[in-house]
Amino acid sequence: MSRRSELTIDLGALRRNVTRMRAAAAPAELWAVVKADAYGHGLIDAARAALEAGAGALCVVTAQEGEALRRSFSDARILVMAPLATGEEAIARSAGLEVALSSPVAPEGLALHLKVDTGMGRWGMSVEEAETVPRKRVVGLMSHLATADDDDSTYARQQIARFSEVARHFDGVPAHLANSAATLGHPEARFDAVRCGVALYGLSPFGDDPAKHGLEPVLSWRSYVALAKTVAAGGSVGYGRRFVAERPTRVGVVPVGYADGFRRGLMGTEVVVGGSRRQVVGAVSMDALVVELDEEEEGATVTLLGDGVLAEEHARHLGAINYEITTGISSDPLRADRKVVDG
Ligand SMILES: *Cc1c(COP(=O)(O)O)cnc(C)c1O
Repeated sequence: MSRRSELTIDLGALRRNVTRMRAAAAPAELWAVVKADAYGHGLIDAARAALEAGAGALCVVTAQEGEALRRSFSDARILVMAPLATGEEAIARSAGLEVALSSPVAPEGLALHLKVDTGMGRWGMSVEEAETVPRKRVVGLMSHLATADDDDSTYARQQIARFSEVARHFDGVPAHLANSAATLGHPEARFDAVRCGVALYGLSPFGDDPAKHGLEPVLSWRSYVALAKTVAAGGSVGYGRRFVAERPTRVGVVPVGYADGFRRGLMGTEVVVGGSRRQVVGAVSMDALVVELDEEEEGATVTLLGDGVLAEEHARHLGAINYEITTGISSDPLRADRKVVDG
């Protein structure tokens, strides 16, 4: 390891997840959501693997993300799912992006997806507004589900029913509604295409073990024990003395902290040190965390994610969701190495 930590992105796993989700979506097309640097996995690498595995389009949130994709993928369909910011229309036009429209004022010269709010209460316009948009450049009708990952499916089923009703008013316009959770859990939400993000990265949209859904984590994150020491009984670890040793305790300092995306609240979560599960002790600081050790020596590999350590576990520990874990990891080359493998 030439830096303090190393991120490994497994594009083989990503392609297998795309294949898995395509099978779940069929006969609908799968569109790959690669916003936010592909949920922290790397925009261009993830997009390339998704297209190779049969994704029919790429979905992002900003025109700049779309423009960056266009430089690498001259023929791909690229959809910007959120409204353009002031000044972004020109970028979208020159990059040939398709855009989601959340109000009936249609920008000139762009292929449009009418985004209807069926209950998410965020972006999107009313059906009445959507019906006033001239159909000439409309290439899609879309909406977004608020509770597709919820055990209680009542609200999701209401939204799906509402969207089906809307779709009847837009005969012949390709309709897309489902995210990853709905693709797996609500077959009636598939329509003509599904927009999957989280599942493609091998993360469970339900926060449980991704293997249960046939998904494999794509990202792993490793560092090492940079310094091993024994804390005497009564001695403490880190800011605020959040860990006080009851007996002499061997610990290892790992050069990764919350500035790298290993969140401060992850005290007590487990990582793998030299093949065994070990607890993070004391408050995580900006540039370091501390793990409890047994016999492991300095230099031992510490797996923060991967080797069975799931983003879902860290998320549960934080009261967060797995999406927040991977999007929060910093791949800043001044701090971490990033390696792409194709397994
Ligand atoms: C992010 C996003 C998705 C993908 O959701 P996942 O839960 O990651 O599959 C789909 N549609 C819209 C509008 C989104 O913003």
